[in-house]
Amino acid sequence: MAKFEGYKDIYVFVEQKNGEIANVGYELISEARKLVASIPHMNFEVVGVLLGEGIADKAQDVIAHGADKVIVVDHPLLKGYSTQFYADALTQVIETYKPDSLLTGATVLGRDLAPRVAARLNAGLTADATKIEMDPEKEDEALLLVTRPTFGGNLFGTIICPDTRPQMATIRPNVFSMDAPDPTRKGEVVMFEPKFQSTQPQVVVKEVIEKVVEGVDITKADILVAAGRGAEDCLDLVKAVAEELGGELAVSRAVVDDGYAEKDIQVGQTGKTVRPSLYIACGISGACQHVAGMEKSDMIIAINRDPQAEIFSIANMGFVGDVKEVLPLLKEEIIKAK
Ligand code: FAD
Repeated sequence: MAKFEGYKDIYVFVEQKNGEIANVGYELISEARKLVASIPHMNFEVVGVLLGEGIADKAQDVIAHGADKVIVVDHPLLKGYSTQFYADALTQVIETYKPDSLLTGATVLGRDLAPRVAARLNAGLTADATKIEMDPEKEDEALLLVTRPTFGGNLFGTIICPDTRPQMATIRPNVFSMDAPDPTRKGEVVMFEPKFQSTQPQVVVKEVIEKVVEGVDITKADILVAAGRGAEDCLDLVKAVAEELGGELAVSRAVVDDGYAEKDIQVGQTGKTVRPSLYIACGISGACQHVAGMEKSDMIIAINRDPQAEIFSIANMGFVGDVKEVLPLLKEEIIKAK
């Protein structure tokens, strides 16, 4: 008899706000597809879970992005995010269908919801993960090896949940790439009727004040030119190169701590995770906490005057030199090439 009789499939909580699905849901579905492909003998499917009101028509998008099945919980009490009602509904879905694992984005919502659901189910949860693999040594179960930064980002720990199901994890946005959708993909849509413990809200949200985002969202930029402490006194130059390339300025935490930039554009473990097609690191040492936020970039170019700087070990291309000398030359070349 299998160790976890009745538990099957990889479930992904597909987060949406006002009917707009957050990319992280699709990133997790793409990664879940790879995970199930690595254990063909288990015959697992990828299942999306969509909670909200008036969101049933989004199920096909989730299928197009790689889900075999979508469980839709469409209810007026789920119109906006509520810890109480979302936790009720998601817990019931899990109790009913018994997923082997459940992946959730490590977003503000996911970080609130997943631990509550895990506590109710007495399930193991690995928070804020950056990597997931199937344990190749386990033939008769789908044991996830979930990696996350630990000890202030100085180490990476791999965590397993060997005794409980579902195995739960929250995963940072932008860690995995998202496969292109296939609108012709077919899948099953299941409508699930939740029974709430109480329909009286324990917490009432009186008002939602949307944060006014000044500038751009660096997680969406295709090209980032990032300044570290070695370039904080020439941020205008770094920004000018970013503009010539049609990209955006980003910074290391040192630049934020030194008061030269806002945290909104900080990359790294305590900043944002980015994966642009081009990341130019200017005067950045390559500390692991910074690298954790940008190592998945398609092409990394480093400029640093120290040839031993750690950033060169992950760069595809490097310039050893002073940023104030290299960047004007780079800018000139970009203008010439236009
Ligand atoms: P430095 O380490 O000071 O390096 C500056 C680099 O610039 C050096 O390599 C130097 O050789 C080079 N340089 C100097 N002058 C020039 C010049 N004129 N031309 C060319 N090169 C030059 N850091 C982050 O970035 N993001 C995070 O999210 C983050 N989270 C953290 C979380 C925790 C819990 C901790 C403990 C740390 C975190 N850090 C983070 C900080 C991280 O450990 C490093 O201190 C930080 O990344 C260093 O930034 P830096 O490389 O810009 O500066």
